[in-house]
Amino acid sequence: MSSYVIGVSGGIGSGKTTVTDCFKQFDIDVIDADVVARQVVEPGTQGLQAITEKFGPQILDKQGELNRSQLRQLIFSNAEHKNWLNNLLHPAIRTEMAKQIQDAKSSYCLLSVPLLIENKLYEMVDRVLIVDVSESQQLARTILRDKSNTEQIQAIMKSQATREQRLAFADDVIDNNGPTENLQQQVSLLHHRYLDLAKNKTS
Ligand code: ADP
Repeated sequence: MSSYVIGVSGGIGSGKTTVTDCFKQFDIDVIDADVVARQVVEPGTQGLQAITEKFGPQILDKQGELNRSQLRQLIFSNAEHKNWLNNLLHPAIRTEMAKQIQDAKSSYCLLSVPLLIENKLYEMVDRVLIVDVSESQQLARTILRDKSNTEQIQAIMKSQATREQRLAFADDVIDNNGPTENLQQQVSLLHHRYLDLAKNKTS
């Protein structure tokens, strides 16, 4: 098990995945909340079983997998359904993230969570690393990546914590306003700091 857990967060399109990919080059284990959120509703999970019992088998596609767009539609206009789903998924995601932290082998690991601040998941980590970017860069990069329109991305940004709210929780900050080449050196410095912190925690 990794003795030290770094929570990585940042708004949509801030560069969390790009940054955690840099840490992976140092063989650091990365637990990604977006991946875990999909794993807890894979076929055969208690999560998918509960959803199927609640909404009926028509919530599954032909392959027996969760039909996400249908589920999104179902909860979009129904606050009760939305609460029910959150009450099911949030604890399941938390439990699975804790399990993957237990299974992590590197001397420290990263827990990448888009809503780390909003959902108070910083309680699960030893230290918080925020990937920081200006709102204009965030918008431009996300539009390019997701091929969605400005309004859609702005609505998501509005539903998330502000840059200032996130930075208030930061122990470390990566500045991702420059080109991706600027990330390597920042990551390398942090990597060595985290190795020391992990070593001091266990000694
Ligand atoms: P997140 O995981 O926080 O949503 P990503 O790492 O996917 O963000 O980055 C969003 C998009 O911006 C991706 O297409 C990524 O390749 C690109 N990107 C990330 N950092 C930079 C950068 N410094 N310069 C240019 N593009 C970047």
